Amino acid sequence: MKAIKDTWLIQIEITNACVFECTNCTRFVGHHKKTYFMDLETVEKAIESLEGFKGGIGIMGGEPLLHPNFYQICQLLRKKVSLEKRFLWTSGYNWKKYRSIIRKTFQENVYYNDHATPLQKHQPILIAIKDVLEDKAYMEELISKCWIQEKWSPSINPKGGFFCEVAAAMDLLFDGPGGYPLEKGWYNKTPQDFKDQIKRYCYNCGAALPYPAVSNKEGKDYSSISNYKRLEDLKSPRFLKGCVKLVDRKYTTKEIKEFAKDWQPWNYLGEEKRKSYYFLYGPFWGFIVKVSKNIRKKIKKIKNKHKNETCINL
Ligand code: SF4
Repeated sequence: MKAIKDTWLIQIEITNACVFECTNCTRFVGHHKKTYFMDLETVEKAIESLEGFKGGIGIMGGEPLLHPNFYQICQLLRKKVSLEKRFLWTSGYNWKKYRSIIRKTFQENVYYNDHATPLQKHQPILIAIKDVLEDKAYMEELISKCWIQEKWSPSINPKGGFFCEVAAAMDLLFDGPGGYPLEKGWYNKTPQDFKDQIKRYCYNCGAALPYPAVSNKEGKDYSSISNYKRLEDLKSPRFLKGCVKLVDRKYTTKEIKEFAKDWQPWNYLGEEKRKSYYFLYGPFWGFIVKVSKNIRKKIKKIKNKHKNETCINL
């Protein structure tokens, strides 16, 4: 695993509210009874705690553009973080409202994913590797090479700093003890230093397990028995709606190695070609057209959600 200080970016997760409810969401959207919006004081503290960090600082959610203080958060970033280090993740919601401040704050550092296609696939995070794989040595090997930790980001949420964004989301959902206090330089931790978090979250997580990704079309979060029971105890809204499918079996090392052969969990767009919109210059108009189309789709789906109270397939 990578030391936190060597990762390319650390996320500040300003909310876990989202306009979507994708299946197998890495932030477990739909399972929380209450969503949060990080207060400005904590955002400022989070930014200051990263002083001296060489990588970027991402603003992420949920959907960050739902945050009622998104404008002020952009202002804070502009005051405290240099332009090339500021990044934003969004599905484009509220784009029109915030277009100008986004352009000023992030320029081309905007990662846009509309999450609207049903072909998108997500890795089933709720399949706890410890529940389904008996080969302990192989489990350790898989966790030590987890693609999310290698390719993506440590994270800060209202409960502190975490070596991994999924670990942060798990702590929040399952009422864990929280992350590292946001003291300046908290990110100066090697895998040896964050062993406590690895132990607490990685064995309860399915990201490192080469398991076939699940399409949004299916509308169900896959969960192994321990997380299934935890969701039941929590009375997670998504669980109560019947949107969680129990995976109650063990896999042999041979079976998992077979899955691993063509496993590419980072390739989440299914059959579709990746569409990245670095949209402040050339492709800007294309983005706007796409966003307005997708917002119409979203509104329709949100309406359907409330009408049917069923699992949403996005
Ligand atoms: S196994 Fe899960 S918690 Fe551990 S590093 Fe990977 S994504 Fe994070």
